[in-house]
Amino acid sequence: MRSNFRSIALAAVLGCASVVPVVAKEQDAAPGVPEASRVPRLVLAISVDQLSADLFAEYRRFFTAGLKRLQEGAVFPSGFQSHAATETCPGHATLLTGVRPARSGIIANYWFDPAIRRADKRIYCSEDERDPRSTSTDPVISARHLKAQTLGDRLKAADRAVRNVAVSAKDRAAIMMGGHAIDQGYWWKDGAFTTLPGRKLAPEAVAANASAARLIAAGAQALPAPFWCEPRERAIHVGKRALGTGRFALDPRDGQGFVASPRGDAAVADLAIALAAGMKLGQGEATDVLSVSFSATDYIGHAFGTEGIEMCIQMAELDRTIGRLLDSLDGRGIDYVVALSADHGGFDLPERLAQQALPAAARVSAGLSPEELTAAVKAKTGIAVAGDLIYSDGPFGDFYVSRSLSPADRDRVLAALVEAVEAHPQVAQAFTAEQLSALPMPSGSPQDWTLAQRARGSFDRERSGDLVVLLKRGVVPIADPSHGAVATHGSPWDYDRRVPILFWRRGFKGMEQPAPVETIDIAPTLAALLRLNVAEGDFDGRCLDIDGSERNSCRPPQ
Ligand code: ZN
Repeated sequence: MRSNFRSIALAAVLGCASVVPVVAKEQDAAPGVPEASRVPRLVLAISVDQLSADLFAEYRRFFTAGLKRLQEGAVFPSGFQSHAATETCPGHATLLTGVRPARSGIIANYWFDPAIRRADKRIYCSEDERDPRSTSTDPVISARHLKAQTLGDRLKAADRAVRNVAVSAKDRAAIMMGGHAIDQGYWWKDGAFTTLPGRKLAPEAVAANASAARLIAAGAQALPAPFWCEPRERAIHVGKRALGTGRFALDPRDGQGFVASPRGDAAVADLAIALAAGMKLGQGEATDVLSVSFSATDYIGHAFGTEGIEMCIQMAELDRTIGRLLDSLDGRGIDYVVALSADHGGFDLPERLAQQALPAAARVSAGLSPEELTAAVKAKTGIAVAGDLIYSDGPFGDFYVSRSLSPADRDRVLAALVEAVEAHPQVAQAFTAEQLSALPMPSGSPQDWTLAQRARGSFDRERSGDLVVLLKRGVVPIADPSHGAVATHGSPWDYDRRVPILFWRRGFKGMEQPAPVETIDIAPTLAALLRLNVAEGDFDGRCLDIDGSERNSCRPPQ
């Protein structure tokens, strides 16, 4: 806009003294500087766990609150979590670091270290296994595995006045978005919000726990379904269970039912709102970061699938919850920017997919568990060890061979493992660590990447398996849905890789860009808006110009 030229020039005069990495402060709050040219005082980074691009496309026209407003900003309906390991921890780690899992080191939710002393050899992504109290089932929470800095880490390194706050139902989401230098971090554990080891709960978290405890003790009625959800209501029989008609009535004392429902997201939003108000986020000396990861979409996707009335109600409630969060910042007059995306997409349950024009979807068949593969390898090679010969966290992903073998025996075991895996009719491809190490880091449009390139995006030589196994499109890696999860994500296919990316900032012109972008583009996009100097090559992603006007948000006025 030409009329802003003088104002931009004024901002340049007032702001040009800063040449070191800096978060602009009072200098650009001068009268006459257009709001959209100022450095926002708060970054609100939202992750909706398991919000696939497909779900967003299905429901975007129905949103009336927060998700409607965000669609008035910059909309990238085809964002990519480009890598193969489409799980929560790797996905969250891309959002604010701007680097792929291959570089963040967060290659999965769990990986194995066959050399570690603990019996199960299993490592959780956000634990500190050096702490003797930490186990893979009850980990001591830490960001130490994250080999990259988050936006909050970088801002705090540049200016100690920055506050970096992260809230979620999941520890791994809060940790991977917040990073190493979290001022306040909360997640749900054993029926209440908890925080980092050695820290006390803030009064806002104490109040949030009291409020959640009252609701859980009392139970609650079913949630209303908007009219546009009614066509989704149809019972799908999975074993003895009927799914597709649930409305989230809460039995008294059902803490898990609380958190795995729209009420869990509402509690996370309430705590974020209370912390933002209590800490005066966005009203301090520097730009603050508030990361909020909503987990209920993921819990509901796993428990009910993605295409029933349960997910439809969740979409309606999520829209309202995000609206409340934005309204609370508006109510305090905060100048903020929002970035929303997801850690991965999701896929429906095969029993419903079969009725809905995708009969090729199937549950994984027998033969890929570590026990079955060990038997096959033993039969072929005659090699056995004390303890486990092969470690894995399921029928796909990273597989590790015991470290107590001679190099020659290890090679034979690996060769037999490759042969057994590749003979399985549901395996698309499998790659050895040696093969993936030899590949360059992929570039170019993520929709065109080969499976090997996708696997390379989440391959870390130190942590990844000796073999990475990818299942065919449409194979759901839950063999037995009679209890627990019925549907999931984690595949290298686009239903799990494609996620929406939305940005909103008051004064920016709305736009939609359907071309593929990546979630690693979010951090460089925000860093440019914040005028944060980042060394060349520190990000794997690129800055996206999120202002649809002739202004370019990647080149803000200095
Ligand atoms: Zn997730």
